[in-house]
Amino acid sequence: MVSAEMAPFAKVGGLADVAAALSRALAGRKHDVRVVLPLYGDLDRKAENIRPLKKLPPMTIRVGQQVHDIRFHVRGSTSSALKIYLVECPSLFEKPGIYTYADGTGFEDSLQRASLHAQAALMLPRLLDWPVDVIHCHDASAVPAILYRKQWYSGRQLPGPAGTLLTIHNLAHQEVHGLDAVETLGLARSQASYPGLLEFHGQLNLLKAGILGADLVNTVSPNYARETTGSSEYGCGLQEILQSRGKDYSGILNGGDYETWDPTRDKALAATYGPGNMAGKLKCRKALLRDLKLTPETGKPVCGFVGRLVGQKGIDLLLPIMGRLADDGFAFAILGTGESHLEEATRKAAAKHSARIAFVDKFDEALAHRIYAGSDLFLMPSLFEPCGLSQMYSLRYGTPPVVRWTGGLADTVSDAGPESGTGFVFNDSRPESLLVALRRAEVMFGDAVRWKDLQTAGMACDFSWDVAAGEYEELYEEVIRKQMR
Ligand code: ADP
Repeated sequence: MVSAEMAPFAKVGGLADVAAALSRALAGRKHDVRVVLPLYGDLDRKAENIRPLKKLPPMTIRVGQQVHDIRFHVRGSTSSALKIYLVECPSLFEKPGIYTYADGTGFEDSLQRASLHAQAALMLPRLLDWPVDVIHCHDASAVPAILYRKQWYSGRQLPGPAGTLLTIHNLAHQEVHGLDAVETLGLARSQASYPGLLEFHGQLNLLKAGILGADLVNTVSPNYARETTGSSEYGCGLQEILQSRGKDYSGILNGGDYETWDPTRDKALAATYGPGNMAGKLKCRKALLRDLKLTPETGKPVCGFVGRLVGQKGIDLLLPIMGRLADDGFAFAILGTGESHLEEATRKAAAKHSARIAFVDKFDEALAHRIYAGSDLFLMPSLFEPCGLSQMYSLRYGTPPVVRWTGGLADTVSDAGPESGTGFVFNDSRPESLLVALRRAEVMFGDAVRWKDLQTAGMACDFSWDVAAGEYEELYEEVIRKQMR
């Protein structure tokens, strides 16, 4: 695995969770999995049990016109089926952060960092005499490994078939640079002019090159795979490039972490509960209302929202209708941070309806658990959602999600009909459509028997990593077959 992130020690978003959980699941299925990451300057080596890999000496790697000193390190056990290698390179990885400075500005040497990371990862199979079946690259920052595999290590220069898989977790981050940057990557100039892999609309685009260069490409849900080939809105300009891969581009739904997210033994909750014993959920609801000083009208639902307050998450659909619903007796428990204008608008709504709308502008893991458990409905009206994890957790906590029919939400939530379904699904990205879905939910909430069935159906959903790991195994086999042909 070539990944810039891995939970819990190097995390920005979902990629970190996937890199960790998928690797663990594959190792559990008896694969020899090795993850290679940069050794970031702010990592606490002692606390993370990171130490030099003694059998490999310090080395140098050339990036563009510069030569960098590197040293391989290892984290945790070297005898387990999952090994984590970290590349120390003081000249590139010393500063704290994964992609950006603390103020959110992107690193100006992101291409150098990606190049060095990839080169180091490709050196390991030979240095360790380790035949590698598949080089699994995550997101644009790992794409140089695909390009070097193709250009520098063609034929038999790597032990093992060493086929490449690119997984796209975020199509919006493409690593776009000026054409001259091809020299930093150490690739032929012809790569940066049409029909070279890297050229895209007069610029150098790493993600585009990875999509065309990898043996196989996938993203994190089947529906998002369809959406991203179907429109420029979802495809972020790369839809035709994705389309050109035909069947070589697919979607595999991420799994949820049911170890951490399990209402039967969640220590953050006022009471635990499960499908056969829902009394604890009522206690969680009471505790949440008390903690957040909310007083919904009897019989009206408490709606939870936990997520980044950014355009993607569809909070703009909620804000125009939330006051009206609060006046009607609904309560809202909103936890999230993000864009300042969205935080401000949410804060205002909460101030105006303080008994019905609570807004906590923090990152608070324990409160997140209490909201998933204590709410009656979970809101996720995202404009786009490559996979989404929150809806999987709310289902597991017996809190039917209200979602837009998009990306992984459409793959994981089915609309409640008279007898079937797990949540409430709406189509258009308009506040009125969310309102209609919430009104449908309100009616069903009033029918205790039907509501219990809905909760039970959601709690029975199993989006576990074992299923996803099995699907990745199939892709790996296809990657190997392609290399052997
Ligand atoms: P994304 O990766 O796009 O942010 P996901 O649904 O895949 O969305 O995952 C978001 C995860 O982050 C969920 O587990 C959610 O509970 C958690 N989360 C988001 N914001 C907060 C917050 N302010 N406090 C606690 N947890 C949060």
